[in-house]
Amino acid sequence: MVISENIVKMLAQKRNLTDDEFVALIESAEYDDLLFAESDRARRAVYADEVYIRGLIEFTNYCKNDCYYCGIRKGNKDAVRYRLDKQEILECCREGYALGFRTFVLQGGEDPYFTDAIFCDIISAIRSEFPDCAITLSVGEKQRKSYQAYFDAGANRYLLRHETADAAHYCRLHPECMSLENRKRCLFDLKDIGYQVGSGFMVGSPYQTSRNLVADLRFLQELEPDMIGIGPYITHAATPFRNEKNGGLELTLRMIAILRLMFPYALIPATTALGTIAPDGRERGLKAGANVVMPNLSPVRVRRLYELYENKICTGEEAAQCRGCLERRVESAGYKIVTSVGNVRR
Ligand code: SAH
Repeated sequence: MVISENIVKMLAQKRNLTDDEFVALIESAEYDDLLFAESDRARRAVYADEVYIRGLIEFTNYCKNDCYYCGIRKGNKDAVRYRLDKQEILECCREGYALGFRTFVLQGGEDPYFTDAIFCDIISAIRSEFPDCAITLSVGEKQRKSYQAYFDAGANRYLLRHETADAAHYCRLHPECMSLENRKRCLFDLKDIGYQVGSGFMVGSPYQTSRNLVADLRFLQELEPDMIGIGPYITHAATPFRNEKNGGLELTLRMIAILRLMFPYALIPATTALGTIAPDGRERGLKAGANVVMPNLSPVRVRRLYELYENKICTGEEAAQCRGCLERRVESAGYKIVTSVGNVRR
């Protein structure tokens, strides 16, 4: 299919294209400058130059799942496992609060140690000590009643990337016991309960096609999430995908820009994975339309152990250093960090 510059204008206006137009745009580097200019305009129209910060607390790397791409999969017997206890998690929040964070993201593997009772106790402790903060969870697939219990305990946002919206592709990335269907069920349950929901996908994951990426866009149109997290796939030696190629920087930036034009209101992070494949990856992500950064608040001694992929950045610095470094990076890209709770503007 032959496309022209008009396709970017059309996307900006209609927030949509046909499948074939999306494929053509995804596969063409020719319109990137125009695409990034339009997506920057779209983000500024809703969020001005504001960039929201979320303090990421990677509180466990135990996981009962065996996702083929992930370094903390159950099958990785070389991984050194850790989990933080309630006091350690609260310490991370206190340090973060003093640095201006008003959102805490509790992310981890699917660790059976954290039963609903244990997890709810931690959530309510954070809720009562930090009533003015958002509590975001990212702990994978659960039953609806668990999601409800976390919500009742005080959590208000949930991140669960769908990873890929093509069922056959999903099967190639996950063991048989996992399904796209259940992942979607979780996302709709979370929305129904009242969470602000984030979803998303990896760019350049093994076997991914441009049509798969279009399926991701279509699924997001159906879900209408508040947050959309995407980042390049990055390989890890202790997974079945050890010989696979990393996802590309350019393609990830193009997907961020397309998402910004489709979902002007969305909170879109410039992810750590993006900063890992290129030294200025996060800055370029912001310029392509991202408006969130998620620095690490985990204790430095466990940082390296939450190894989803290789060469992950920011594993050696204290939270305060990370915060300062990001502030400079965000400013160098032409934006400014704000420390408000940063709710979605729809
Ligand atoms: N257990 C939680 C958190 C997963 S980690 C859950 O299931 O949602 C957060 C995200 O990291 C995943 O959703 C996945 O998209 C991403 N990720 C995992 N392995 C990766 C890799 N090798 N390269 C890039 N991103 C990866």
